[in-house]
Amino acid sequence: MFNNIRRRLVIVNAAVFLLVLAVLSSMLYVHMRYRLFHETDEILQQAERRIGTYRNVEELLRSDHPEPQQDERTTYLFWNVQGQLVGQSPKGSFSGTAEGQFRYRTDASAIRTVTADNRSYRVLQFPNPHQGSDAIATIAIVRSLGDVNNTLRSLLWDIIAGIAASVAISVVAGFFLAERALIPIRRSWERQQRFVADASHELRTPTAVIHAQTELLLRHPANTIEQESPNIAAILKESRRMGKLVDDLLTLARSDSNEQLIQPSAIALDSLLSEVTNHFRSLAHTKDIEIATDIRKPLSLWGDESRIRQLLVIVLDNALKYTPAGGRIEVTGRYQAGSVYIGVSDSGCGIAEEELPHIFERFYRGDKVRSRAQGGTGLGLSIAQWIVDAHGGTIRVHSKVNQGTKVELLFPQKHRAPAEGGNPASV
Ligand code: ATP
Ligand code: MG
Repeated sequence: MFNNIRRRLVIVNAAVFLLVLAVLSSMLYVHMRYRLFHETDEILQQAERRIGTYRNVEELLRSDHPEPQQDERTTYLFWNVQGQLVGQSPKGSFSGTAEGQFRYRTDASAIRTVTADNRSYRVLQFPNPHQGSDAIATIAIVRSLGDVNNTLRSLLWDIIAGIAASVAISVVAGFFLAERALIPIRRSWERQQRFVADASHELRTPTAVIHAQTELLLRHPANTIEQESPNIAAILKESRRMGKLVDDLLTLARSDSNEQLIQPSAIALDSLLSEVTNHFRSLAHTKDIEIATDIRKPLSLWGDESRIRQLLVIVLDNALKYTPAGGRIEVTGRYQAGSVYIGVSDSGCGIAEEELPHIFERFYRGDKVRSRAQGGTGLGLSIAQWIVDAHGGTIRVHSKVNQGTKVELLFPQKHRAPAEGGNPASV
């Protein structure tokens, strides 16, 4: 798939490059052609002006080189009143059909391009400025475009060779650059593929459990709900797990697509921290875990309340999940060096040093068997990381195996603490 994309990228790049070069080269060629024709026309016009200054134009007929500046590229043709060619200078420059091509034409513009004997000429025709001369009625000055055409032809070949070389270089460089440009896309594609594979794998387990347990129920249709309660409880647990997994996947999918999910406002963080902590208290009580709090009041934060709540739940859920009975959890909230600080530390099992760099990866679970038994899918901290990033904050985890874990959250303090009892004030 990537090879195909790379090939297409290179073709499109080369085509655009070719188009740009072709347009620029055409402009250069047209400009050059105009300049060279213009120069030729000026030479013709200067010759015409000089002829106007001669007293006796008939003399031009007799001299082979009527003009001191005349070079071999310029020829003079003279016609009488009857329209017959009476002379040319240098003599014998044109004969027969070629001669006829330069005949004076009243309908033609003063300067025109004429092709005779497969050669191009620029022709300036004008009536004899010295009236009363019967011998010469009209004059044509003809200048060969051979040199101009040679210059233009060699310019054209240079341009074609230049374009061909540039396109060849652009194709080679394009392959190299496309390969480099595709590296992050390839990585993100692989990450996405792994994400989908992991998600499907995680969804398969609860689906299989629900399937099996429901079949068991159907095998004994006469049993009462009470008799089947363990099976029903298993179905309920797995469907809850599946629901949470789908919610988490949706959050991450939305965060990936950069959908605007953060609606910030001033949050009374002290109340939010106490509220979330209290929700966990009863659960902690059943596990014989003590939850202590040290929350500065008032404490305010600029953020999305539901997302910050979700973040606190993820961190506290981990602390509770990975702390054995008799342990202790401490929740701290305060201002610290211009930031809002939230700390959640536990006396739980801790995280091994080699696992620490991976805990924010999607579907990463420290001890897979243990955390699956705890209902974990390994998405919690990935979501936590996204929420913290979206609020411009940082998340740090310090941990020692069998001693405990400390999660530190720091957010920019966009809102200062309100005066006692007042509302948070913007700074
Ligand atoms: P989920 O939160 O999605 O239900 P989870 O808890 O396994 O599943 P994360 O919250 O992302 O996933 O945590 C990743 C891993 O980090 C966990 O599996 C666990 O091994 C380790 N971990 C996280 N917090 C703690 C903690 N407080 N104590 C010990 N280990 C932790
Ligand atoms: Mg978790």
